Amino acid sequence: MSENTPVKYRTTKQKRTILEVLKSTNTHPTADWVYEKVRKKIPSISIGTVYRNLNILKSQGQILELNFGKGFSRYDGTPSNHYHFTCEECGRVLDVDAPLAHELEEMIADSMGVKVTSHRLEFYGVCAECSGSN
Ligand SMILES: [Zn+2]
Ligand SMILES: [Zn+2]
Repeated sequence: MSENTPVKYRTTKQKRTILEVLKSTNTHPTADWVYEKVRKKIPSISIGTVYRNLNILKSQGQILELNFGKGFSRYDGTPSNHYHFTCEECGRVLDVDAPLAHELEEMIADSMGVKVTSHRLEFYGVCAECSGSN
């Protein structure tokens, strides 16, 4: 790409590439991982640009940022609400294949007299691979 490429186009390409990388995996990678992958396609990209675009994609509702309170975030190319299972041995984050418990929201709404708009639920344990290697 030449230096005369309009900034807007460049920005679009960076954002699209980051989204593609994120959608190509279900490992819920960190920003560093995304950066390493995107750099293979756009060698000139910086980690700051990756962070900025991840934030833009998040605010546009195209990806999810998962924060497990460990000082860094993981990113998810599946933007709709879904549950996650975190392995306490190897740290991998898996998508949980189960429907959202909307009845929980109704229960809370009824018992507290509040309006519930969403909820988060995290599962923790030992993944199949880790429990198999014991
Ligand atoms: Zn594991
Ligand atoms: Zn997920």
